[in-house]
Amino acid sequence: MNERIDEGMIECIAPSTGEVIERIPVTRPEGVAAAVARAKVAQEKWAKLSVGQRCAHMLELREHLVGATDRLANVLVRECGKPRQEGVFHEVGLLASLVTHFARRAPKLLESRSFVPGVLKYRRSRVYYEPRGVVGIISPWNFPLLIPFADAFTALFAGNGVVVKPSEHAPLIALEMKKIWDESGLDPDLLQIVPGRGATGQALVESGVAKIVFTGGVETGRRVAAACGAALVECVMELGGKAPVIVCADADVDLTARAITFGGFFNAGQACISMERVLAHESVYDQLVERVVEHTRALRLGGPEGEWDVGPLIFPHQGTVAETLIRDALARGAELRTGGKRAERSGDFFEPTVLAACTNEMRVMREEIFGPVLPVMKVRDDEHAIEVANSIPLGLNAYVFSKKTAHARTLARRLEVGSVVINDVLSDYGTPEAPFGGVKNSGYGRTHGEEALRAMCTTKHVSEDRFAPPIRPWFPYTDLSEGRVRRLVSALFSKKSALSGLVGRI
Ligand code: NDP
Repeated sequence: MNERIDEGMIECIAPSTGEVIERIPVTRPEGVAAAVARAKVAQEKWAKLSVGQRCAHMLELREHLVGATDRLANVLVRECGKPRQEGVFHEVGLLASLVTHFARRAPKLLESRSFVPGVLKYRRSRVYYEPRGVVGIISPWNFPLLIPFADAFTALFAGNGVVVKPSEHAPLIALEMKKIWDESGLDPDLLQIVPGRGATGQALVESGVAKIVFTGGVETGRRVAAACGAALVECVMELGGKAPVIVCADADVDLTARAITFGGFFNAGQACISMERVLAHESVYDQLVERVVEHTRALRLGGPEGEWDVGPLIFPHQGTVAETLIRDALARGAELRTGGKRAERSGDFFEPTVLAACTNEMRVMREEIFGPVLPVMKVRDDEHAIEVANSIPLGLNAYVFSKKTAHARTLARRLEVGSVVINDVLSDYGTPEAPFGGVKNSGYGRTHGEEALRAMCTTKHVSEDRFAPPIRPWFPYTDLSEGRVRRLVSALFSKKSALSGLVGRI
């Protein structure tokens, strides 16, 4: 969806046709503050339910979500130009999968735990996972249903209220999801949407929310993290990616070529975990490039009617980035094997492009493309591949293709990224059980998995007596009491002491 600046309004433009499909109002800062205040009131009631009761409500919501699959897919096709199948499976399906997972696991994961401390054995500790309040979600346009609502639902399972600021380039799907939420009978104030631009996101950060989950580009992320720092609001930063694909000498070339074609051109390459750098062992490089080019030439650009594999770019600027990086690569010796330019048809379409003979100095190998451009580089061996993969400041996702899983796993451990997928594409984001997020400039914090669910809570430690201890090391301090304490420390923590076993052997 494109958007033309018009103060107070967002003009939603279908990228497949260029037609204006809707105009919606921008939420002003006062509107954001009011939404957060309403969500807080609703959250206090929601937080009083048991985790199991919240799970039951979320399963009811899942019925409404799945029942509205076609409705949601239609909006995604119109607003983003996505192939319908991607809307159905990669947005609705994966969201339903996340709800299913947490509905099953949240009661256990959020249960309080108690223990007797190793040293202060006269005490008992209990740790509680308590809701934070209202969580603000600021999200991008590329998976405008899955990304914001996976985070929103995780926050809701944990007992929070949520306010979502969708991208100005894809707000309609968030509004559609909100209708489904309301239809499901859940409290309308508990989940709210505040469409708008950067200023609306900024207002959300400053509105008194208890946490921000931001997904977007590195530069915007720096600004949002700074604003969260100023407001002392905890944040998760899910930022850009530039996934390397290490193709080992023993990889199944057929499977790898099909996987790379999908991983490079799925959602027109507009995914943070898209394959953006293929590092192919010299012994398979020629064969792999040939197969990838063959599969790429068979892809059908199209939409919004009929059947197609690759849709348009969200707006013309993404095409300009692709053109610039391709030009730089060709000037430095890359070979254009297919594609390379905007498609000759109306709408923001770009031809799926394969660049071979790439080198690590080219911008296309170092900067996020976020479009249908697949650079391939020949590497001497796996060491060379690891060196190239780790040579840039982005570290979100990576892929390894090898028939020897143990070897692939060894390479995976050496990659400076948050997730590695062996012999498959995109399946890490589709695994709600596993934490997802980046290292280096790709951000910090995690979405998905028990890590994300618990991080949507604040932890509270309650400490109580099991029995009265013989002494408590309080005032007054005397030579006698200091001597006792010194002997106690030595007795408990020196390996030579017979009593050291009391605090556990190491
Ligand atoms: P942007 O960084 O441009 O925008 C992200 C969100 O932040 C949008 O909702 C945007 O609003 C909002 N925003 C902009 N300025 C501010 C501000 N000052 N304060 C608060 N919010 C603000 O990213 P894109 O939407 O272009 O998305 C593409 C990027 O997202 C890519 O770099 C991609 O790699 C990354 N991404 C990362 C993922 C991950 O999980 N790590 C997953 C998917 C994408 P508006 O759009 O209205 O300007």
